[in-house]
Amino acid sequence: MALIVQKYGGTSVGSVERIDAVAKKVAKFHQNGDQVVVVVSAMSGETNRLLDLARQVSDQPIPRELDVLLATGEQVTIALLSMALHKHGVEARSYTGSQVHILTDDAFNKARIQEIDDARIRRDLSEGRVVVVAGFQGTDKDGNITTLGRGGSDTTAVALAAALKSDECQIYTDVDGVYTTDPRVESKARRIDRISYEEMLEMASLGAKVLQIRSVEFASKYSVPLRVLSSFEDGSGTLICAEDETMEQALIAGIAFNRDEAKLTVVGVPDQPGVAHSILGPIGKANIEVDMIIQNTGADGKTTDFTCTVHRNDYKQALAIVQKVAEGMGARSVIGDDKIVKVSLVGVGMRSHAGIASTMFEALAKEGINIRMISTSEIKISVAIDEKYLELAVRSLHSAFGLEQQA
Ligand code: ADP
Ligand code: ASP
Ligand code: MG
Repeated sequence: MALIVQKYGGTSVGSVERIDAVAKKVAKFHQNGDQVVVVVSAMSGETNRLLDLARQVSDQPIPRELDVLLATGEQVTIALLSMALHKHGVEARSYTGSQVHILTDDAFNKARIQEIDDARIRRDLSEGRVVVVAGFQGTDKDGNITTLGRGGSDTTAVALAAALKSDECQIYTDVDGVYTTDPRVESKARRIDRISYEEMLEMASLGAKVLQIRSVEFASKYSVPLRVLSSFEDGSGTLICAEDETMEQALIAGIAFNRDEAKLTVVGVPDQPGVAHSILGPIGKANIEVDMIIQNTGADGKTTDFTCTVHRNDYKQALAIVQKVAEGMGARSVIGDDKIVKVSLVGVGMRSHAGIASTMFEALAKEGINIRMISTSEIKISVAIDEKYLELAVRSLHSAFGLEQQA
């Protein structure tokens, strides 16, 4: 008998038929004698629909009220799934985040889970019930409803798994595991059997949206074995676990990409102390996150160029700020480009192998893809390239590193 936390994403509960199929799946585990806690997302498209409604009412909806609205999506699915479970002869109870005391901070729209009081869940489990919990939501210490950011149901599931010391946290979705890259972009992508927390964290941070970043952080911190599986077909999926347990010692684990980048270049800034601070300071003050940063060595010793990337949603605001700063410091011009994407290679094998960067750059050069920016860390190499080359870059790198052929 095991205690399992399962999470079903939007597509997996996207219709009443799908909810019924999930109920049947959960019922099987329950009949096997397992204790099951199920976390569900809103039905697919619902969170976007609610966001759209809010934007029709206001350009900048008040964050607190937006969370009250967004949290309703998950409340629909918990009730429907619980009803479906009863229909299949399983006693189940649904709970919102606040009912099972998922306490978060008060950062509306991107709240972080601080504490979970699992007493109520444990009582239901011990009485033989399946517990169905709304993902993506909690309450702050004053009782305000909060949500955890897009994809947040993954984090609810892992946090519950950690609190309940569950044997495994299973994330059921519309793909049958974590792939070497998004299978929607490269059909030859290969499912990975096991991947380390560290690599999965990089993949998620660099754009692989299969798991929310926070969920992988939680899983790693509390050593929760995390498994990504298909809710549509049987299979063992991908296990995300500690590095020493990963059998596969692949050089490169996978390729992640992020379509939402934009680039700002200040041309001809004085090559002197304080320049980076004068440009990045005001951007930071406006709460805009900067990703890649490059400053060249000034060839003439007097001026240089400074480039950084931001999320595309922040592009216009960042451009206006930088233009003002550039004027003030007597820079030559500001060039902006919001058609930039970032493609990254991820793998712990990079620590001990040289030559990966050169293979990467060679593969991109062969396709005539110009690299705009490069950034590296111990286990990843990222390049910023023009948006139109994204698919080509992902596919050529996938093939250059033989990702489809490895065992
Ligand atoms: P859910 O609604 O179940 O949470 P998501 O849409 O959030 O599902 O995540 C699953 C999607 O993640 C897949 O359909 C796939 O297109 C995308 N994805 C991106 N990168 C990867 C990857 N490396 N492996 C698997 N899926 C990926
Ligand atoms: N419903 C939320 C979203 O669409 C949370 C989730 O599905 O994980 O982002
Ligand atoms: Mg998701």
